[in-house]
Amino acid sequence: MADQPAHTGLIWRERPGRGRPTAERPTSPAADRADAVYADLRRAIIEQSLMPGDKLPEDTIGESFGVSRTLVRGALTRLVADGLVEQWKNRGSFVASPSLVEAQQVFDVRRQPEGLVVERLAGALAREHANRLHGHVAAEKRFHGKEGPEAIRLAGEFHVLLAELTGNTLLARYVSEVVSRSSLILALYSRPHPSECGASEHAEIIEALIAGNAARARYLMDHHLGAVQERALLPKPGAAGRSLKDVLVRYAEPREPLPMASPTQRRA
Ligand SMILES: [Zn+2]
Repeated sequence: MADQPAHTGLIWRERPGRGRPTAERPTSPAADRADAVYADLRRAIIEQSLMPGDKLPEDTIGESFGVSRTLVRGALTRLVADGLVEQWKNRGSFVASPSLVEAQQVFDVRRQPEGLVVERLAGALAREHANRLHGHVAAEKRFHGKEGPEAIRLAGEFHVLLAELTGNTLLARYVSEVVSRSSLILALYSRPHPSECGASEHAEIIEALIAGNAARARYLMDHHLGAVQERALLPKPGAAGRSLKDVLVRYAEPREPLPMASPTQRRA
């Protein structure tokens, strides 16, 4: 797909059958499986299928994904580092529930690295990169008027793609982490808003980058993040009556039993 967003590490993965990104590094089947569980859980949280406060029992997750509890534990530890999961002694793991104060802090922190991203990219965008960004925004606009998880994920991926285009992996990793945390906060607090609004703001940022206007790009990004932050004001009621297994079954991909020393990995 021309408008396929870029991928940071093993984080952004596509649904089965929808064009999967290439594997970034060779891994063992077990490590590959662990990465897949991590990415699927992360996506379930970012797409708001799993809501803040939801319990994440290792056994249920292991059964749903067809993997061992050890692998699940490893995935949960990584999600804790991302700020998406909280672990409590003797109580287990839960989707993180950031407070309003923490939400404020995340958005405050976002402005600096993302401002740096657009400063670096202003006037330095290769035509191919500009095309990828335009393709991404076109994909976002196709979700105009639909407040779905796909629109929310795409909006976040725009910021990660920008950061990746700087070629600075550390910056890309920081941005990816704050974008994840922001998605969780939006799931918890945000009011509904037309997704097209975000896409048109993204388009303006691209134009400033192509024009080589670093000051304007930085202003637009700051303004945009301020608008996103403003949308994250009102608590919205969590969806009730969802079973963890029902949610996970949509994310768990069919997996072959371990150990599988197959030379062809599924993450093609
Ligand atoms: Zn945005």
